[in-house]
Amino acid sequence: MKCTHCTRGDMQRASVWALSLPLGIIGYVLSIVAVCLLGSAIWMFLVAYGVIGETNEAEIRKELADELRAQNIADALVRDFEEDGTVDTPHDDLGFQQREAIDDAELQYRASKAGEAVGKGIVAIVGASLAYWCVSSGVVLLIAGLLLSLRRRVWLCKSCQYIVRRA
Ligand SMILES: [Zn+2]
Repeated sequence: MKCTHCTRGDMQRASVWALSLPLGIIGYVLSIVAVCLLGSAIWMFLVAYGVIGETNEAEIRKELADELRAQNIADALVRDFEEDGTVDTPHDDLGFQQREAIDDAELQYRASKAGEAVGKGIVAIVGASLAYWCVSSGVVLLIAGLLLSLRRRVWLCKSCQYIVRRA
């Protein structure tokens, strides 16, 4: 097929930027940024989920139980504490110091459990809002990037660069 413009050159199949080269490049960059944002949203979700799912409660109980053992508290009572963080076995017959050590361990365990719940709540809120921000801006940028970097199929004249839209 000969070019209708210069009547010499052959028309060949080609694809060109639908808008312009600078806009096409901006579109590509936006698309890459969008993919990175969407990827970090997934990463943030996984990290937040891991932190929230992680439990240190058993570890805290074990540490406090070791302290109780150091106070010469009977092993049955220490094991009772290690199970759920409270000593359900009656222990009024113990000396004042030992009873106080048990009360103290129970109190510390409740406090650190509450602290951990607050920490996880903060991680959940911050993680969710960051992930939401990344996803929403990522989607907008991805759509803008794809639109800007659209290609148009054309017939292109080899000698004069004349362009005709190809169906
Ligand atoms: Zn031509």
